[in-house]
Amino acid sequence: MKYFLFFLLTIPYGLLAQQKRTGEGNLRTDQPKLVIGIVVDQMRWDFLYRYQYKYAKDGGFNRLLKKGFSFDQTFIPYTPSVTGCGHATVFTGTVPGVHGITGNVWWDKHKNRQVYCSEDKQVKTVGGITAAGEMSPRNMLTTSVCDELKLATNFKSKVIGIAMKDRGSILPAGHSADAAYWYESKSGNWITSSYYMDSLPNWVQAFNSQKYQDKLYEQGWSLRDPADTYQQSTKDQNSYESTPLGKDQKGFPYNLSQFVGKNYEAILSTPQGNTFTFSFAKTAIDAEGLGADNIADFLTISFSSPDYTGHSFGPNSLETEDNYIRFDNELGQFMDYLDEKVGKNNYMLFLTADHGVAHVPAFLKEHKIPAGVVDDKKIMDSLNMFLNNKYAQGALVLHAKNYQLGLDHKKIDSLDLSKEDIIEDIISFVETFDGVDRVIDLHEIMELPLHRKIREMIANGWHPSRSGDLQIVFRSGWIDGMKTGTTHGLWNPYDTHIPLLWYGWKIPSGSASEEADMTDIAATVADLLHIQMPSGCTGKSLLPYMRKK
Ligand code: ZN
Ligand code: ZN
Repeated sequence: MKYFLFFLLTIPYGLLAQQKRTGEGNLRTDQPKLVIGIVVDQMRWDFLYRYQYKYAKDGGFNRLLKKGFSFDQTFIPYTPSVTGCGHATVFTGTVPGVHGITGNVWWDKHKNRQVYCSEDKQVKTVGGITAAGEMSPRNMLTTSVCDELKLATNFKSKVIGIAMKDRGSILPAGHSADAAYWYESKSGNWITSSYYMDSLPNWVQAFNSQKYQDKLYEQGWSLRDPADTYQQSTKDQNSYESTPLGKDQKGFPYNLSQFVGKNYEAILSTPQGNTFTFSFAKTAIDAEGLGADNIADFLTISFSSPDYTGHSFGPNSLETEDNYIRFDNELGQFMDYLDEKVGKNNYMLFLTADHGVAHVPAFLKEHKIPAGVVDDKKIMDSLNMFLNNKYAQGALVLHAKNYQLGLDHKKIDSLDLSKEDIIEDIISFVETFDGVDRVIDLHEIMELPLHRKIREMIANGWHPSRSGDLQIVFRSGWIDGMKTGTTHGLWNPYDTHIPLLWYGWKIPSGSASEEADMTDIAATVADLLHIQMPSGCTGKSLLPYMRKK
């Protein structure tokens, strides 16, 4: 030990830096060379098994299931189960009430306006042509496990976040990341913000200039296998699917070549969005030398396309089934690449999801299963009208976000109206709408007769300056949305039961059916890497369950 210290002290700094590049530095032997945290945007846990009959034997999912470790009972512990909250929670190891990302958007009481989860008006777009780059992690109130890795290695670790959605890239990578890259559909470029850098690295510019999407568009989107082999989907073309690839394109095969050079948004709703993201991630690993030396690096990748496809078509569609079997193949190829590039036992990978999704209500109804669509706009409009008729003071509900209603406290206080009366009126009025199960006064949630799990999930999602006063709880199967497609965001298991798979460095093979919590993921990464937990972490390490097997 003494010799080791002496050795460290006598190395000039430049040499250390050089060693990081040449791969001879041996700062920590108790960490893998690379950690890869993968989030599949909108993946229900049951998709691991629902489509398994079509997954390749040694593809991505089967390799993770057979050679890695699966926590089959992993749940999101809060509402609303949406993208911003999910990505922040996986990497901070805590709930929205602590990390502060209470929705994709929320009403901020102090700013008195709507806030987008990763917006940052102080920074500029880098590499793009719109405001899509005015983003940073500043709204997130705690550290990500990537920040903790940086702190643990005196900032020698490299941290990069990648996702087509800005929030899927920025929130996981944390505050001290070297870079986060996301997609600007107007230009078709991977971009970033001045929070991270002043200009795109050469490799990103080179990647953008190829316009790889055009090649992917030329491929079109046909079913990978003969249509009659798809056993888990309703027939193509039905009245409850949306048409994200053009009103005239109602089913397979989808012609994408019409988008070449013109429309760089359409790729988001196709499997090519995943191909594009995998390709960018590989380029990042090569160009940045991630995992090339003995100081652990962290790459976070979120796949946004499954969410776009899923919203439009739902879990019982050919589009979703085909998207997942293609993703499985590409994930397997990505792992082959990592085996070769970084080395089989030199990287640790985990895969999870930011949320699940409900079946399309019209599809469920067709099968006599309780479901429906709540018209939230109608509720909001008629609610304020009702309150105006009663109190003659105009709108008293200021905002409706994340299934919550927020009162105009300033107005109510200045008029000396009774908040209790108004809240009671709102509850009895909104509870009359189809699909609304109950409306909860959030200030009294701990005293209400409510199942403890639902109570806890709602309370975990509540932050004093970023949440509302009343919570609307839907009946199971009901969504807020339109007649076609589906969504997520509620407490129910279809939205909150997520996959959690671990693979690679020091991960045994097996599975556990003990209940795990989304907040346990960052705690487990911290335990594996022997680093501090994130600053607001409330989760527990899952290592004891893995070692028991
Ligand atoms: Zn999402
Ligand atoms: Zn979504």
